[in-house]
Amino acid sequence: MRETVLVSACLLGLATRYDGKRLLEPRARDLLERYRVVPVCPEQLGGLPTPRPPAEILGGDGGAVLSGAARVINARGEDVTGAFLRGAEEVLRLARLLGARQAFLKAQSPSCGLHPLGVTAALLLREGLEVYEWA
Ligand code: SF4
Repeated sequence: MRETVLVSACLLGLATRYDGKRLLEPRARDLLERYRVVPVCPEQLGGLPTPRPPAEILGGDGGAVLSGAARVINARGEDVTGAFLRGAEEVLRLARLLGARQAFLKAQSPSCGLHPLGVTAALLLREGLEVYEWA
């Protein structure tokens, strides 16, 4: 049986992005052939709507958000830190339920990115998952 992995939903062409646009990362097809792929969008799982205002981490990276030292603020100036944390925790819960040990996450996202580190990526790394940045 193929290994179960988590993949950012937007990489698979699902319209989960903040701007509601649909992208399909061509290399995602490789993942679909190699693994049992489970799409996740931490921002939606955290309760945010789509489309939604873009957001950024202020005062640090995703690790700092986890420790309470930084906040996530959207383009309207609203603090959406709670939703980002809830979404990250839901993704971790799903990883544990499904036994997923790897996640392929979208680059340049305050949730999914690795450089700089997003909130979900930081939580999954802290909990021992292998996290790869895509696109
Ligand atoms: S980058 Fe992550 S949080 Fe943003 S739309 Fe894609 S899956 Fe959702």
